[in-house]
Amino acid sequence: MANSGGGVRGKGLLERLEQGPVICAEGYLFELERRGYLQAGPYVPEVVLDEPEAVRQLHREFVRAGSDVVEAFTYYGHREKLKVIGKEAILEPLNRQALQIAREVADESGTLLAGDLSNTNVYDPDDAEALRFVRQAFEEQVGWAVDAGVDFIIGETFSWLGEAEVALEIIRASGKPAVITLAMHQEGVVREGPPVDEACRRLADAGADVVGLNCSRGPGTMLPAIARIRQQVACHVAALPVPYRTTPEQPTFQSLKDPACACLPEGRPFPVALDPFTCNRYEMAEFAKAAQALDVRYLGICCGAGPHHIRALAEALGRQPLASRYSPDMSRHSFFGTDPKLKAANREYAARL
Ligand SMILES: [Zn+2]
Repeated sequence: MANSGGGVRGKGLLERLEQGPVICAEGYLFELERRGYLQAGPYVPEVVLDEPEAVRQLHREFVRAGSDVVEAFTYYGHREKLKVIGKEAILEPLNRQALQIAREVADESGTLLAGDLSNTNVYDPDDAEALRFVRQAFEEQVGWAVDAGVDFIIGETFSWLGEAEVALEIIRASGKPAVITLAMHQEGVVREGPPVDEACRRLADAGADVVGLNCSRGPGTMLPAIARIRQQVACHVAALPVPYRTTPEQPTFQSLKDPACACLPEGRPFPVALDPFTCNRYEMAEFAKAAQALDVRYLGICCGAGPHHIRALAEALGRQPLASRYSPDMSRHSFFGTDPKLKAANREYAARL
């Protein structure tokens, strides 16, 4: 399987970014939950050990759709999450296996292999014990990623600037390029107070190779902040929205409300009933073009992304990934098509369908 990065096989993240956009598919938690391999709520990637084929297959689907990066599925595979489900014993095997699966798909496709750190949900700037815990959790995950020979390491979905800074410091100590992305909540600020664009500037000043936003916001409510971040930093910028139609009134996927549905058990569509808000592939293509116009080069889609979204994003950037072989051709549709070999009467009937 070859991807269509366009003559960049063998080059590292920073060289590829100098030449143009790099696509990183994310959203493994949501997609594997939807497929029946992962439990919403705890959101721990035990699937890596329980059903490794399911993870390998999804990596391949995202690469086939145009992802230049295979992100090891260690998101929420850190010490805190495993403690919550009482399975700290599988921490190291889970991380090593996630990296190994991703390694295999990256090698067979010529894509980049990324290690991954995420928010721990226990970070507290005023709690020395919590700070020690976070540092240990990141150090051990970075160590396993380095052992696996990753090309770079992602630290993502941080709400606390301080936690992002700890992740960055530990990634930098490993010598690997660091991609650091924040989750932008309703108020548009990190939990210490500053706006996300200022937080990104501080991360860039501290040596991050790529800074930006992932998760939480859909394209419509993420792009204005991305434009501000682009103005604040000299390094590359990352934008990986969730594929949902967030609005100025409900700017995050957690805050979306669905008055059309009376059967939501908790009254809110997040996280497993967001279907009616899903962006279509054309909307994700528009996002890609808008981000590219801002010279934002590290592009992807987070929770909710499917391979069809990634393919649309790739094609909007001028790519033809393997999956483009099956991109739509409505000219040969039985009713809406224009191909002369089609029965003409069906086209006239199409308006009545
Ligand atoms: Zn996400």
